[in-house]
Amino acid sequence: MKIHEYQGKEILRKFGVTTPRGNPAFSVDEAVKVATDLGGKVWVVKAQIHAGGRGKGGGVKVAKSLDEVRQYASQILGMQLITHQTGPQGRKVSRLLIEDGADIKKEYYLAVLTDRASQKVAVMASSEGGMDIEKVAHDTPEKILKEFVDPIVGITDQQAGNLARGIGVPAASLAQAVTLIKNLYRCYMETDASLAEINPMILEANGNIKALDAKFNFDDNSLYRQQDIVAYRDLDEEDPDEVAASKFDLTYIALDGNIGCLVNGAGLAMATMDTIKLFGAEPANFLDVGGGATTEKVTEAFKIMLKNPAVKGILVNIFGGIMKCDTIAEGIVAAARVVHLSVPLVVRMKGTNDEIGKKILKDSGLPIISADNMAEAAQKIVAAVK
Ligand code: ADP
Ligand code: MG
Repeated sequence: MKIHEYQGKEILRKFGVTTPRGNPAFSVDEAVKVATDLGGKVWVVKAQIHAGGRGKGGGVKVAKSLDEVRQYASQILGMQLITHQTGPQGRKVSRLLIEDGADIKKEYYLAVLTDRASQKVAVMASSEGGMDIEKVAHDTPEKILKEFVDPIVGITDQQAGNLARGIGVPAASLAQAVTLIKNLYRCYMETDASLAEINPMILEANGNIKALDAKFNFDDNSLYRQQDIVAYRDLDEEDPDEVAASKFDLTYIALDGNIGCLVNGAGLAMATMDTIKLFGAEPANFLDVGGGATTEKVTEAFKIMLKNPAVKGILVNIFGGIMKCDTIAEGIVAAARVVHLSVPLVVRMKGTNDEIGKKILKDSGLPIISADNMAEAAQKIVAAVK
């Protein structure tokens, strides 16, 4: 799960990380009110979307008067903001963050993330913070320093110090940087984040160290024990079909092809997509109905897949283990009737009660094409959509 920058900064402050003062605004008038209440002479108007690269896309503006706050807020609010992370269609801005303008002397990069290769938590830092960290990682990877943290021990003063000194934080500000790094690590662990990124972390002209941006990803499997984080969820930022799917405990991810796939188990779903590709077509989605595929769930899965106008055929690939094939077959028949299935449907079933399941499909009178193995199933659906 992702959250907005202003929410990320609220979390950071709870963990003792200093950020500029600021508040969200949902309208132009509110933006001006937030700026007025903050006081000062310089404010920054920032688009809040679940994607980075906002600065380059025109979604971050420095305002030197309340009139400019009004002007930038009306420009940014409602705009379709295109960044390298939004795709060409961009993302509509419906929230702003209005915050104090910082007097930036230097921008650094800092992130805590789960490192699969070392199976540890990695803390990364770079002197080259700001808006081009992807380019730094690509062209000059030696400028990104890493410390791998033992989760039992936690990050040590020495590790945080290595990073802060390594990226060139001046001596007078080292203690602040070390504290910030340690607080960010604690924040990452206690919120079950999989990424906590501050880009840029800044050195201000007065020597203070602050988090100027905040990006978090949280582990969905931990949300049950992170109610404060769940409260930050903004469904407007998520794919509506993926949201609908998650309500029914379905894992759905939209893709670009034209064959809808309904599979039980993530591994089998991956293998099914590969098999479709092997026979020259492209899957329209990844859809894992999980272990307990009820009629209701299967119906919902069909509805979601068929909403995509690109879908020209559906492949159902089920392995019946604890989940019996006859139960699935009944679900498919019921679902196919409810959604008035209008595209070819190939079903491959294997495992517990597969013979009974196949009979249910056959007796239903629905134009369901049956297949005995994955290759046959993929070939049949590819042929049917061509
Ligand atoms: P993004 O990463 O999406 O482009 P950032 O929050 O990192 O958005 O902002 C982009 C840039 O805008 C920063 O690198 C910084 O130079 C500038 N900026 C952001 N917030 C402030 C602020 N409060 N005061 C001054 N400059 C800011
Ligand atoms: Mg940033």
